[in-house]
Amino acid sequence: MSYRDNVARLSIPKGIRENDLVRAKDRLHEWLSKLALDKPNLFVPESNGALTGQEITLIGRQYHLRFIPVRANRITGRRKDGVITVEAPDEFLSDRTQVSDAVPRLINKIFAYDMDQRVRDINQRTINANIGRVSLKSVVSRWGSCTHENNIMISNRLLLAPTEILDHVIIHELAHTVHRDHSRQFWRVVAQYDSHMKEHNAWLKLHGHTLKY
Ligand SMILES: [Zn+2]
Repeated sequence: MSYRDNVARLSIPKGIRENDLVRAKDRLHEWLSKLALDKPNLFVPESNGALTGQEITLIGRQYHLRFIPVRANRITGRRKDGVITVEAPDEFLSDRTQVSDAVPRLINKIFAYDMDQRVRDINQRTINANIGRVSLKSVVSRWGSCTHENNIMISNRLLLAPTEILDHVIIHELAHTVHRDHSRQFWRVVAQYDSHMKEHNAWLKLHGHTLKY
C-alpha cells in the first residue's frame, strides 16, 4: 500500500480471490483514513486551476475566457472589454498541460501594462523609491522579487488573488528598495503602508496554494 499526491496504490498478487481482494481494499481504506487523521496536510483537495472555467478573475475583475481553435500553428491572446480570447490550434487547446503553461505567459503580456501602472501608483503613494523595470512572470517559487537595481518582479499567480493581497506583495517588494533583507526594520516599513500586513501574510500562507492556472 502506498499513497502520494492524492493517489493511493494497492499491490495485490496475481489471481487473488474475490474475498481477499475485498479485504485488501478494506485494509487500504482503513489505512488511508488513519493517514488522513495523522497527516491531513497530505490530503489537499484538488482545486481546479483558474483556466478550467469559463470565467477568470484577474486583478479583481472578472473576465470571460474564450478559447478559439484556429488552423495557424501559433498561440495568440488578447483582451477586449471583459473578454480574454486565446486562439490556438485545436490539439493545443485540448492539452491541459500546454494550456496551463502557455496561457499564463500570454496573460503576463496582456497585463504587463496594468501591473506596471499599479506598482508605480502604489510606489508614488507610499515609499516613492526610484524603481526600475516592473515585470510579471510565471513564477511558482515566490510571490515577487526586487533586485539591487530596484527591478520588481511579481508572480502572475497574484493576478488571481484578492487585490489587497496583490498590493500587499507589491508593498513588500517596494519595501525591499529600503531594506534588502527581512529584518525588523523591513517589516516596519511594510506595516507602515499595509495596516493589515499580518492578515495578508497569513492569507498567503493559508490560501497561496489555491492560486494556480
Ligand atoms: Zn521579501
